[in-house]
Amino acid sequence: VLRMEAVRKTFGDSVVLRDVDLEVAPHTVTALIGASGSGKSTLLRCANLLEEIDDGAIWLDDEEITDPRADQDAVRRRIGVVFQAYNLFPHMTVLENITLAPRRVHGVDRAEAEAHARELLDRLGLGAKAGEYPDRLSGGQQQRAAIVRALAVRPRLLLLDEITAALDPELVGEVLAVVRDLKDDGMTMVLATHEMGFARDVADQICFLDGGVVLERGTAEEVFGDPREERTRRFLRRIV
Ligand code: ATP
Ligand code: MG
Repeated sequence: VLRMEAVRKTFGDSVVLRDVDLEVAPHTVTALIGASGSGKSTLLRCANLLEEIDDGAIWLDDEEITDPRADQDAVRRRIGVVFQAYNLFPHMTVLENITLAPRRVHGVDRAEAEAHARELLDRLGLGAKAGEYPDRLSGGQQQRAAIVRALAVRPRLLLLDEITAALDPELVGEVLAVVRDLKDDGMTMVLATHEMGFARDVADQICFLDGGVVLERGTAEEVFGDPREERTRRFLRRIV
């Protein structure tokens, strides 16, 4: 679904991603792990064309999306993104938040957009919250609503950046359970996370980033069970 080849990203003098290769197969979950500042968010932002890369190439399905001729808006429409802080619009109800993009950007009519939104809300346990404003929801509910909003455009790929980082510990589980359900439904996802137990549990592929380099990658068993690189070992020892 997603392929990155020798991607390089700099901010001024600092190289934030160097020679990053990544291959995300359909219906798989890839977890990006690594210390703060290692480049996880930047990688996700490049994949969604929120950041322009300096070198290399990125493909979504068969299209090279970093080709200057690519239709960037069309690409972004095929990718759902959820960030750490809930991105719900405070002045709109949950239902309005969710149906905004399908109606405005994808031209879906109101009835159809709302029916789909309610179906997704039900699935994520938020059926009763459609008419509420975001500030009436718990953090976990807001984050689940943000996930529903990302799903509402029927994305090809979902990018999740530390979606539990801003949550109280007791709310983390409900959001991670949603990710697990989406995986079971076959959604392709790339997520950045500090939740190692979760990454181990849900990810088909783990990529350990260190200073903008994918230093080690493999199955959860390989990377967590028997890391090849000393730096990976050190990172995991520190964090687990
Ligand atoms: P965290 O775990 O804290 O979220 P991360 O792995 O997501 O960290 P990034 O946010 O990708 O790390 O940042 C990687 C590096 O790029 C950092 O050194 C950061 O300071 C730098 N960086 C990110 N965005 C910008 C920007 N817009 N301008 C300049 N430097 C940036
Ligand atoms: Mg980050």
